[in-house]
Amino acid sequence: MENTSWIELNRKALNKNISYLKQRIGSNCVFASVIKGNAYGHGIEQYIPLAEACGIKLFAVYDAYEAYRALSIKKADTGLIILGLLDQSQIEWAIINEIAFFVFDSDRLNATIETARRIKKKARIHIELETGLNRTGLDADDLPPIISLIKKNGRYLSLQGICTHYAGAESISNYLRVQNQYKLFIDYCKTLKKAGISAPHHSACSAAALTYPNTIMDMVRFGIAQYGIWPSMETKMHNLLSEESGFRRNPLKAVLSWKTRVMSLKTVMPGTFVNYGNAFLATSKMRLATIPVGYHHGYSRSLSNTGHVLIRGRKADVVGMVNMNMFMVDVSRVPGIEVGDEVVLIGKQGDLSITVASFSELTKMINYELLSRLPYQIPRHVV
Ligand SMILES: *Cc1c(COP(=O)(O)O)cnc(C)c1O
Repeated sequence: MENTSWIELNRKALNKNISYLKQRIGSNCVFASVIKGNAYGHGIEQYIPLAEACGIKLFAVYDAYEAYRALSIKKADTGLIILGLLDQSQIEWAIINEIAFFVFDSDRLNATIETARRIKKKARIHIELETGLNRTGLDADDLPPIISLIKKNGRYLSLQGICTHYAGAESISNYLRVQNQYKLFIDYCKTLKKAGISAPHHSACSAAALTYPNTIMDMVRFGIAQYGIWPSMETKMHNLLSEESGFRRNPLKAVLSWKTRVMSLKTVMPGTFVNYGNAFLATSKMRLATIPVGYHHGYSRSLSNTGHVLIRGRKADVVGMVNMNMFMVDVSRVPGIEVGDEVVLIGKQGDLSITVASFSELTKMINYELLSRLPYQIPRHVV
């Protein structure tokens, strides 16, 4: 059964983004593709093979459920890392399936060592250090006991990384906080090294890697940028306008488009209220198209009277309220429009485009939220 809309993933765009980002981080740095939030709405099942075809060999997910979904899709030699939730009851499953995971408290470390010892298989772990995000991570006080635990239980642990995460590298207002985190991270890594514990270092997300090259280290955890979306307007401007960058054209291409078709057409006369309530009053004779997508499908109600779509290469404004399953657009200036015409909600058509950034500005959502909230049920096709 078809859905009322569909999402297209552009293989060529992804290939370009990944090559560009790889070039930015250099060939000695590992590219970890972050696919939490259903691959930022792109669909874990559709995205993994696509990214693997672009040379990605490591994916980072949020929890065991996402890891479980990734496990059945990925190639045998592709690695997985769980960044967040892993119940104690799921640790054994993760170890058996050779899924690495972040360790950010001593409870998890203890449970991991105990499980690895019991099932006689090494656990792959990344030690996450608290440097100032104040979310998850081991504090300075935790380090001495953790160091001795790791050293004592070396045969049960495969230490794959030492890492941290920045508190908003996409905004200059966090500059000092991020710089302090960086310094603290380097200090902690030195302490660990002195204690005889070393592993690849990683700290950067997209914004950090693209703004502060010293955060790139041995691996980058790229989320949003691989999908062709800048973490923020600031990061985009920093990269496009700085002299070092050579004032280049936008190298990131949006991978995702969201499309549907015109469901129905009607003409209304001047003085007619359109759709629920009094949100829109037609002041002239208007041709309207009904679009079979609503807030239930992820098309935000805040786009009422505000959003726009593309039909036949022209922009058509949303008129009136966005309903649960549909909304209306003004197609008075779309000649030849017919029921069944393709409607672009996000993406390109002809010379025009509706970017994720412009869409999220109108809905007051950040890019991340808009993308990751696109419902699972919308079919994803690779083009
Ligand atoms: C989400 C996430 C990332 C990726 O962030 P982007 O800004 O999308 O690149 C990296 N590391 C951690 C720990 C994350 O949670």
